[in-house]
Amino acid sequence: HGCVVLAATPIGNTGDASLRLIALLQQADIVAAEDTRRLYDLARRLGVHVNGRVVANHDHNERQKADSLLDEVEGGATVLLVSDAGMPTINDPGLAIVRRAIERGLPVTCAPGPSAVLDALALAGLPTDRFCYEGFVPRKASDREQRLRSLHNEMRTMVFYEAPHRIDETMDALLAAFGPDRQMALCRELTKDYEQVRRGTIRQVRQSVVDDPPRGEIVLVIAGASTEEVNEASAEVLTDEQLAHLAQ
Ligand code: SAM
Repeated sequence: HGCVVLAATPIGNTGDASLRLIALLQQADIVAAEDTRRLYDLARRLGVHVNGRVVANHDHNERQKADSLLDEVEGGATVLLVSDAGMPTINDPGLAIVRRAIERGLPVTCAPGPSAVLDALALAGLPTDRFCYEGFVPRKASDREQRLRSLHNEMRTMVFYEAPHRIDETMDALLAAFGPDRQMALCRELTKDYEQVRRGTIRQVRQSVVDDPPRGEIVLVIAGASTEEVNEASAEVLTDEQLAHLAQ
């Protein structure tokens, strides 16, 4: 058997490419890339020659592609899987082939590296002992409100991905869901020249977004609810339940 290797690629700074990624780019029999042009661009910046066959593996063809790539692995090939930036499978293609490889009993490994989740979490200055990754903030207003409301009592630090053109609406939704006083960090352009982390309460960060709209790629990190907040909320729920009980 060969092997499937998921490899993280830089999220902005080419220097974050690992030695292992560089070796894999040169040595893999097949490189399955989310966008082949971006793969060649990365290879050029790294000064490496991709010797293997390069194929496209994006969200839309992932499932069909998985089995044909795994047939190659069965035949002895090393298949390197990369996305446009960061860790494959984290809001990027990759999961379909991992699942299918597990089903078929074929080996999968990972060459880890940059991912915006952990970069932002480490820089936010909020608790890191327990956190949850919430992926992209939902686009539709009703979905967004529902998702954020369901997280009202979440005690772990929360990490969200966001697109810059929606940051205004999202900051309003965060304010509505978590109130003005929670601590948060807006991390943008991580590892790039204009990297910036804005830390403060939700109210303060929202104001900064109004005053100076952040451009580029964004990760939002929000503090979890405090024990007091959760106790207050559950006391309210109990009272409601008790009232309902009493009314019977
Ligand atoms: N697989 C990637 C990873 O491991 O981080 C995430 C891919 S997802 C399609 C792209 C989103 O990740 C962006 O919209 C942004 O929220 C976040 N992101 C990626 N690179 C970033 C960077 N350099 N700075 C801030 N956020 C980034």
